[in-house]
Amino acid sequence: MTKAIISLSGGLDSAVLLAHCLKEKREVECIGFSYGSKHNPYENKAAQAVADYYQVPFRLIDLSKVMEGFKSNLLRGEGEIPEGHYEADNMSLTVVPGRNIIFISILSGLAWSVGASEVWIGVHSGDHLIYSDCRPQFVAHMGQAIYLGTDNIVSLVTPFLNVNKSRILAEGLDMKVPFQLTRTCYSDQKTACGKCGACQERREAFQLNNAIDPISYEYTGPLFKKESK
Ligand SMILES: [Zn+2]
Repeated sequence: MTKAIISLSGGLDSAVLLAHCLKEKREVECIGFSYGSKHNPYENKAAQAVADYYQVPFRLIDLSKVMEGFKSNLLRGEGEIPEGHYEADNMSLTVVPGRNIIFISILSGLAWSVGASEVWIGVHSGDHLIYSDCRPQFVAHMGQAIYLGTDNIVSLVTPFLNVNKSRILAEGLDMKVPFQLTRTCYSDQKTACGKCGACQERREAFQLNNAIDPISYEYTGPLFKKESK
C-alpha cells in the first residue's frame, strides 16, 4: 500500500484531504505544525481530534523556536488578525513568510525517512491570490524539487490545487467529514470569530452549499464584500 504523509492543520480543507487520501487507499501518517501562530493551540487540538476520528496517527512538530522572528500578524506578539473578505488586500498581513516552503521540505524529508512516497497538502484556489507559496507555479516547482531531492522517491500531491473551498466542502459533505471537529479561525480565542478571512471563506462555503456549519461563531452577521468590511 502506498504510504502518504499528510499535512493536517485541523482546518476544513485538510480534514477533507485526509478523508480523500483514505478513500484513495493510502496508508496515512498526519503531521501538524506548531509555529507560533495565535490559532495554533486550537487548530492542533482539532487536528488531533480529526486524526483520532479516522484512527490514523498524528504527530505535532514544534517549529515555534525555528520560526521565531518571522513577521506575520498570524503570529503571537505581532499585529491584529485582519477582519474582512478573504481576498481583501489586508489579508496579506496573514502571510507567514515561506511557511509552505518550510513545511513541505520537512514533510518530504520525513516521508523519505519513513518509506512514504507521497506528501499531501490541502492548498486550494482560494489561497492563490494572497499566499504565493500556494500557487500552482510554486507547487509545480516545489514538487519537482522534493522529487529530485529525495532521489525520485517523494511526490507532492495537491488534489485541491485548482478547487475552491466551496467544492472542497461539497466533497467533504459527501464523505461525511466530521466538520464539528475542525478549526478554521485565525483568532486567538476558543470560539471562531466569524470575521477573519478564514472564517469568512468557510462561512461562505457553507452558505454556497446550503449546509449548516456545525461549529459556533461569535459573529454571525452578513459576510463581508471583497471591497470593504
Ligand atoms: Zn475567525
